[in-house]
Amino acid sequence: MENIVIIGGGIAGTTAAEELRKLNADVAITIIEQEYHPMYSRVLLPHYVKGKVPREKVFLKSWEWYESHKIEIMPGVRAEAIDIPNRFVRTSEGRELPFDVIILAGGGELNVIGGEPRGVSYLRGVDDADELVGLLKEISMKPASDRRGVVYGGGFIALEYINIFHHFGIACDVVMRGAGFWSSLLSEHSQSVLAKKAIDGGILLHANEPEPTIIGDREVSGVRLSSGIDLPCSILGVGIGMHPDQSFYRECGVEIDRGILVNEYFETAHPSVYAIGDTAEFYDANVARRVVYGNWMNAQSQGRAVAKNICGDRVPFNLVSSYSTNLLGMQIVFIGDVDRKAADDVKQIVATESASVEEFYRAGKLVGAVLVGDISGRATITARIRG
Ligand SMILES: Cc1cc2nc3c(=O)[nH]c(=O)nc-3n(C[C@H](O)[C@H](O)[C@H](O)COP(=O)(O)OP(=O)(O)OC[C@H]3O[C@@H](n4cnc5c(N)ncnc54)[C@H](O)[C@@H]3O)c2cc1C
Repeated sequence: MENIVIIGGGIAGTTAAEELRKLNADVAITIIEQEYHPMYSRVLLPHYVKGKVPREKVFLKSWEWYESHKIEIMPGVRAEAIDIPNRFVRTSEGRELPFDVIILAGGGELNVIGGEPRGVSYLRGVDDADELVGLLKEISMKPASDRRGVVYGGGFIALEYINIFHHFGIACDVVMRGAGFWSSLLSEHSQSVLAKKAIDGGILLHANEPEPTIIGDREVSGVRLSSGIDLPCSILGVGIGMHPDQSFYRECGVEIDRGILVNEYFETAHPSVYAIGDTAEFYDANVARRVVYGNWMNAQSQGRAVAKNICGDRVPFNLVSSYSTNLLGMQIVFIGDVDRKAADDVKQIVATESASVEEFYRAGKLVGAVLVGDISGRATITARIRG
C-alpha cells in the first residue's frame, strides 16, 4: 500500500488521515477537499454566528498541521470521477490521482429550495456562516419592528436558525412541511412539547406547508404560504435536511441506497474502497441493520476505525452515537436508530407538559431513543442500546 486518497476533508476524512499517519509513517495520504478551508467544526458554526466562539476557534486544523503530518491536502478541488478498476480519481483540475486505497468521506449535500435572492440563508459550511453573520449585522441596524426572519424546516438546522434569530431578537415564523418538528420521527407528544416551547418563546409555527414561495427578486422581503398569506422577513433560514451526494459515486459502481453501502468495517463491495461518515450507510451491529447517521461523534469515530481496518487491525465498528441539540434552551438528544418506520414498537416512556422520552424497539431490543426536555436517562439508554 503506497497511496491512500481520501475524498472529503471533513471530520471523518481528516480523522482517518490523522489516524493513518499515526499507524503508518510512510504511506502517501492525499485529501481532496472542494472547500478552501482547513478542517473546521460544523458543530461550532452556530456558536460562531451567535458570537459565542471567535471565528478562528472554529478551525480544528491549520495548513501547517497537514504539512507537519505529511498529509497532502488539495483545497478547492473536487473529485469528479473514480475509476475503480484502474485505480485513479479524476479531479476538477483534470488530474488523475492514483490510489491503492480510497476512502469516500464526502458527507452529504444540502437540500435547497427554488430561488435564491439575497437573504436566503443556508448553514452548512463556514462560508455560509460568514454570510449569515453579515446578514444578521445588517438586520440589527433595522428598527426592532422590521427585524423579522422566517425559518423553513423542522429539523436540526431549522432549530439552529430559530435559536440564532431568538438570540438576536429577530421575530421568527417557522414554516414546516410536516405537522411539527421532526414530524416523521417523533411522537405527537414530543412534537407538542417542542411546539409549546417554541410558541412560549414567541415563535409562530405554520405546519403542513408545502415549499413557500419566496417574495423579492434581488433581496428577500417575505415568503408566501399556500393559503396566500405573506410572512414579511428580511432573512429566510432554510434547514430542510441533506441527501448523500451520489452523482459520481453511482457512476463509479459503488452500491448506494440511502448512502454508500458498507459493512461494519466500512468496506464497499470493491476491495480497498471504503466509505465513512455522513455519506456511509454502514452495518450497525448494535441495531442489527444498515443505517446512515448524520452526527459528529459517528463521523469522527468512523474515521479512526477505518484507518485501523486499513492498517490491519480489523475490528467491527461498535458505537452508539448521539446528536444533542436544543430548542431555546430545551435539551434534545437523539440516540442510536430513531427511524420510526424501521421500528416495530415505539414506547412513550415520559410524557409530561415539558418533557417527552420515546424508546424505539425492533425485535424486542432497544435500538434508539429521543429525549426532549429531560435527558437524564441518556447514559442508561445508551448502555441498553449497546447491550
Ligand atoms: C450547522 C451544523 C451544525 C451541526 N451541529 C451538530 C451537532 O451539534 N452535533 C452533531 O453531532 N452533529 C452536528 N452536525 C452534523 C455534523 O457536523 C456532521 O454529521 C459531520 O460534520 C459529518 O462529517 P463528515 O466528515 O462525514 O462530512 P462533512 O462534514 O460534510 O465533510 C465532508 C467534506 O467532503 C467534501 N466533499 C464532498 N464531496 C466532495 C468531492 N466530490 N470532492 C471534494 N470534496 C468533497 C465537502 O466539501 C465536505 O467538506 C452539524 C452540522 C451542521 C452543518
